[in-house]
Amino acid sequence: MKGNVLIIEDEPDLARLIRMYLEDDGISTRICADAEEALKEVQRGNYDLVTLDINLPGMDGFEFIQQFRREKDIPVIIVSARQSDEDVILGLGIGADEFVTKPFSPKVLTARVRALLRRMRSAGSGKDSILFGPFRLDPEAFILWQGKTRVPLSLKEFEILYYLAGSAGKALKPDTIFENVWGNRYGDTTIVAVYIQRIRKKIERDHRNPEYIQTVHGMGYRFNPDTIPVGNSE
Ligand code: CA
Repeated sequence: MKGNVLIIEDEPDLARLIRMYLEDDGISTRICADAEEALKEVQRGNYDLVTLDINLPGMDGFEFIQQFRREKDIPVIIVSARQSDEDVILGLGIGADEFVTKPFSPKVLTARVRALLRRMRSAGSGKDSILFGPFRLDPEAFILWQGKTRVPLSLKEFEILYYLAGSAGKALKPDTIFENVWGNRYGDTTIVAVYIQRIRKKIERDHRNPEYIQTVHGMGYRFNPDTIPVGNSE
């Protein structure tokens, strides 16, 4: 078994199609047609990833992800027919990792699922933890610790923060951050700013006056090297 995916989709034919492709790839799946039911299901089951429709009866996908992110940091791929930019930014800004618009190729979705599962498993192995301020980034487990407390981050938020902290002292353009974290340069790089805002709200004492992720005007961002202890590595 390569992974366990919860498919949240209210169109039965589409849900079955997604299931068929993922299971052909050796991935276990469960289908939920209702977001409230899905919130309960993610507590019960041991899921590695969620695919999420936005237009659902009752609670919609955006509401789902807001509640879900309070508890869980596994990757979420939004699969939606709503393709306006606001929806994309809102969806990613509230903690989704990828966005696939309908109609979509099931092969493309399967490839994205596989890539995210692989990243979850292997990206951190062999990398060092990074300490800054009271925090520790553990790249093996994709966890940000503040002392003994776990700070909830989505996979993308973790990857961006790890990349920034690992490049402490360097001014980085949003394009550079995007290319390194997403692994390509073809997306909408304005999304980087949305993620930085989210991360700041989680780690900064005052997110408008950030101590760790500083803004370099007209350029991008710079992780403050003074917050990282000298000789930091494990
Ligand atoms: Ca739907």
